[in-house]
Amino acid sequence: MGKLRGRSAIVTGGASGIGRACAIRLAREGGSITVGDVRDEGAVETVELIRSAGGEAIAVHCDIGNEDHVADMTAKAVDTYGRLDVLVANAGISTRAPLHELELADWERVLRVNLTGTFLCARAALRRMLVQGQGGSIITIGSVQSLVISGSGAASYKASKGGILMLTRSIAAEYADDGIRANCVLPGWIDTEIQAHMEEESSTWVSQASYQARTYPVEAPIRRPADPMEVANVVAFLASDEASFMTGAAVPVDGGYLAI
Ligand code: NDP
Repeated sequence: MGKLRGRSAIVTGGASGIGRACAIRLAREGGSITVGDVRDEGAVETVELIRSAGGEAIAVHCDIGNEDHVADMTAKAVDTYGRLDVLVANAGISTRAPLHELELADWERVLRVNLTGTFLCARAALRRMLVQGQGGSIITIGSVQSLVISGSGAASYKASKGGILMLTRSIAAEYADDGIRANCVLPGWIDTEIQAHMEEESSTWVSQASYQARTYPVEAPIRRPADPMEVANVVAFLASDEASFMTGAAVPVDGGYLAI
C-alpha cells in the first residue's frame, strides 16, 4: 500500500537527475505521474522505467517558462488521471559567469525558467487543487543556495533559488486554509547531469578552472555527492500525508552542508 495511492502528481524536469528520481519514487508509492520536460526522449525513458516497474506515468513536452505549455501539461495530468494532488516543481537551469560578465539574456533565461516557471506551475496546480477542494502538496526544489551563497553557481541562479523559497512560503501562508501545503527542498551536491546541461546551454559559461579562482571549496560533513534518490525519498515524504503538519518549510538535503 503506497503512500500516494490514488493520487496524481506532476514532476517537472522529470527526464533527468532529481526529477527522474522523484517521478520513479512517487510512482513506487502508488502515484500516477505526469513527467514534464523539454527533453522528450528522457521524459519517455522515465515513463518507460516507471511502467516497466508496474507504475503509471505519461510524458508531456513542457517548457515551464511557457504559460501555454504549463496549462497543457496540467490539463493532460487532469484529463488522464482525473485529478491533481501533488506538484514537484523541480526543473531548473543555471549559468556560471561572474556577475560582471553575465549577459542579460542568460540572467533572464535563468529567472524565467527557475522562478517564473515555478510560479506558472504552482499557479496552474493551485487552480486545479482549489477546484477539487481536497488539499494538495506542492514541493519546490530550491538549493542550499536559496539560503547561502556557497561555492559555485552564478548570481542569477542564487537569486532565482532565493526567490523560489519565498514563493513557496507565500503559497504555504496563503493556502493553508485550503489544505494545500507547500515546502521547499534545498539540495546540496547531487550527482546529476546538471553541470553538462548548463555548459551546453549557457552563452556566458566560464570553465570550472577559471571560475574557481573566484570562489572557495565546498565542504559538507558527508563528503560525497548524493544519489538523486536521496532527494526523492524526502520529496515522497513531503508529498504524502505523513508530512501533514509541514508547510512553508525549507528542507535541506545537503549532507550537513548548511550546518557548518
Ligand atoms: P538535470 O539537468 O539533470 O535535470 C533537469 C531537467 O530539467 C533536465 O532534463 C532539463 O533539460 C530540464 N529542464 C530545463 N529547463 C526546463 C524547462 N524550461 N522546462 C522543463 N524542463 C526543463 O538537473 P538536476 O536534476 O541536477 O536538477 C534538478 C533541480 O535540482 C534543479 O532545479 C536544480 O537547480 C536543483 N538542484 C540541483 C543540485 C545538484 O547538485 N544537482 C543542487 C541543488 C539544486 P535540459 O537539460 O535540456 O535543460
